[in-house]
Amino acid sequence: MAVFDRITIVGLGLIGGSLGMAIRRKGLAREVVGFSRKPSTLREAKRRGAIDQGTTDARAAVDGADLVVLATPVDLIVPYARRLARSMKPGSILMDVGSTKAKIVAALDRGLNRQVAFVGAHPVAGSEQRGIAAADAALFDGSVCILTPTAKTRPAALRAATRFWRRLNMRVVIMSPAAHDQALAAMSHLPHALAFCLAGAISATSLPQTPRSFLDMTRIAQSDPELWDDIFLSNRRSILAAMDRFTTHWRRLRGTLSRGDRRALRAALVRANARRDALS
Ligand code: NAP
Repeated sequence: MAVFDRITIVGLGLIGGSLGMAIRRKGLAREVVGFSRKPSTLREAKRRGAIDQGTTDARAAVDGADLVVLATPVDLIVPYARRLARSMKPGSILMDVGSTKAKIVAALDRGLNRQVAFVGAHPVAGSEQRGIAAADAALFDGSVCILTPTAKTRPAALRAATRFWRRLNMRVVIMSPAAHDQALAAMSHLPHALAFCLAGAISATSLPQTPRSFLDMTRIAQSDPELWDDIFLSNRRSILAAMDRFTTHWRRLRGTLSRGDRRALRAALVRANARRDALS
């Protein structure tokens, strides 16, 4: 049964395209409309089954939609929301899927057309790939979607958003925008910063083949720089705090190694093993 009559997706890349494919596959909307700047993206989105129809006119795209999902790079979410909310119908819901939340939610909690209800969301699913070509209808299956309501979020909109992500086979977790950004800084943004740094620090290898361990550690350094400088800058404070905590551990390990202290070194590795084993 359709949850919404018409859903519009603004930005048909990995996340927006996958969302359209999943919505259509599960029949969550009578119609999915897509917006992209590029006719070629719209053609590909339609060919891959991510949208029923598309347009390069953003205002026309949101006209008559019950739910509008903003799936552009993080920096563009607030300007698009402000611009498009004026053209959205009364009673409709605006949701973003940005990887950082505090700045976006603070900006959109105020200053939007009051007839539009905003809900901040982050489906924690994705990869280092980008664009409609990488979209996958099963991308969200079994993952978590974090919703970041505040005192200003309309309860009915939050219930509808929760139902929507659950129907996409996601477990919905509610967090404050600040708690979301701190947790993601530690578990996603810091690892991306480390991978970029590691890949950037090693120039040439004298080995005939790059070791699997290096490729595993740096896979996410293949993520899109345009998407990630946005994410780093918009969650700068939490990422700097996570970097400082990491530096303390790094210095401790370095000290242990420089002293040649086998017992302390083994204890640090055993502790890290146990922490990693406990992760799901
Ligand atoms: P993506 O594959 O690069 O897609 C971004 C989309 O935004 C593209 O379709 C692009 O459209 C559009 N876009 C770029 N610049 C634009 C502009 N100036 N005006 C209008 N549209 C523009 O990126 P993504 O991975 O889907 O990420 C989209 C959002 O999801 C981001 O906010 C990201 O933080 C969030 N997110 C990402 C992941 C992940 O793992 N990748 C996971 C969860 C959430 P064109 O076709 O017009 O170029």
